[in-house]
Amino acid sequence: LHEISITDSLTGLYNRKHLMETLDKEVSRCQRHSHSFSLMVIDIDHFKKYNDTYGHLAGDEVLSRLASVFKESIRSSDYAARYGGEEFIVMLPEIGPEQGVEAAERIRHKVAEQRFGNEGEPIKVTISVGVASYPDNGEDAESVIKKADEALYEAKEMGRNRVVLTGTSKKKKKSGVK
Ligand code: GH3
Ligand code: MG
Ligand code: MG
Repeated sequence: LHEISITDSLTGLYNRKHLMETLDKEVSRCQRHSHSFSLMVIDIDHFKKYNDTYGHLAGDEVLSRLASVFKESIRSSDYAARYGGEEFIVMLPEIGPEQGVEAAERIRHKVAEQRFGNEGEPIKVTISVGVASYPDNGEDAESVIKKADEALYEAKEMGRNRVVLTGTSKKKKKSGVK
């Protein structure tokens, strides 16, 4: 029963509620031991178009296959959850920003290698990823997620199918001086 209450039924990953509880615990643990962690927010590129073109069931298949890719790509001490409809969070304990980006790039490449669809042309799917770290980028789970989310938004703006570490994008700010 406990297993069901913490699992997302479509993907078999942890659900959002369990994710937030786990991140809060991880922050406390890091505070006690002066440790760090990195997390990535992952969002599928143009997924609405995928659903519109191939159908919602085909879309569900993508979500479930990507979840398997995430699970295969991380260590047993790492943590993967479905954060929202087509958004995922992977948390890497004891990992700093640079290694976090390396891990995110590995996952991004693995996803790009997948081929979807049963008949006809094999279909490719890409993801965009924002990376942020505790304690460098925030003092609690929500702040770190927010930073990773902003980095994800920049990855989308820069053309998708890429990884952006928070605070490192070369993109000019829209507000401010010209
Ligand atoms: P972007 O590259 O900017 O992320 O574009 P997008 O189309 O992926 O983003 P948008 O937020 O416009 O669309 C997200 C889509 O994800 C819309 C929704 O139908 C789909 N989606 C969300 N949850 C599920 C789900 O559980 N199953 C399926 N098949 N689709 C889902
Ligand atoms: Mg989205
Ligand atoms: Mg999307």
